[in-house]
Amino acid sequence: MTHDMSQYPLTLEGDDAPMVRFQNVTKKYGDLTVLDRLDLDVAAGEMVTIIGPSGSGKTTVLRMLMTLETIDSGVIYVDGEPLTHMEKDGKLVRANAAHMRRMRSKIGMCFQHFNLFPHMTALGNCMEGPVQVLGIPKKEAELRALELLDMVGMSEKRDQHPARLSGGQQQRVAIARALAMRPKVMLFDEVTSALDPEVISEVTGVIRKLVDQHNLTMLMVTHQMGFAKEISDRVCFFFDGSIEEQGSPEVLFDNPERERTQQFLSAVL
Ligand code: ADP
Repeated sequence: MTHDMSQYPLTLEGDDAPMVRFQNVTKKYGDLTVLDRLDLDVAAGEMVTIIGPSGSGKTTVLRMLMTLETIDSGVIYVDGEPLTHMEKDGKLVRANAAHMRRMRSKIGMCFQHFNLFPHMTALGNCMEGPVQVLGIPKKEAELRALELLDMVGMSEKRDQHPARLSGGQQQRVAIARALAMRPKVMLFDEVTSALDPEVISEVTGVIRKLVDQHNLTMLMVTHQMGFAKEISDRVCFFFDGSIEEQGSPEVLFDNPERERTQQFLSAVL
């Protein structure tokens, strides 16, 4: 489906340009409107968490950033450029494969199910993309992969295959693997949901370290309210495909204004 792009800027520029912008984004599945004219900015280096009831569109936001879904209207910018469109003769037109590839490479992702390559070691998993996709020389990719495995506390397990690792360990390798591609934006979708309670902190600890030590832009969907409160710069409460309320974790969790937010929080906290 084509939609009118003439009202949107070709690029976002300037020091205050967000790293991610959803501008007026609508996404439908048939008659179901999953995102309803969504506006959402994430600043460079910001950690934004999305919370909300099941079916409110949280995962769809991440899937759209991964270009796994088409947009019905509106535009998404990443690092100043439209994700799925490009400029031609002063207009935005549907992007070609090269533009899509370049834009996708700015985004790293971790899901609930880690999907490591089963036939490769932890180290191999972290080298594959950099060598095959980015064309980084093997030695250099190995050094970088080892640094990242060290950062996630997995260097001792570098020669193990995923089947020999616990869920928490696999998830930590998955985070290292995503970071090895040097993304500008990291997406975390329920990364602790499939884990046993006792290993959740291994993974949240790694994400906390990323927030503290790296200037990455991050967008996270989680049901873990305590973690969201502790780690986020901003929390967005989604309801029916748009942002019902957003703010600092202190305000949103302790002093929400909207009744829907209050109801949701009193049910989950
Ligand atoms: P959340 O992550 O907040 O639980 P989702 O973004 O996964 O919500 O889904 C939002 C809505 O879109 C849900 O009602 C879901 O059933 C619907 N949905 C998601 N993917 C599809 C699809 N591929 N086809 C039809 N409906 C979908």
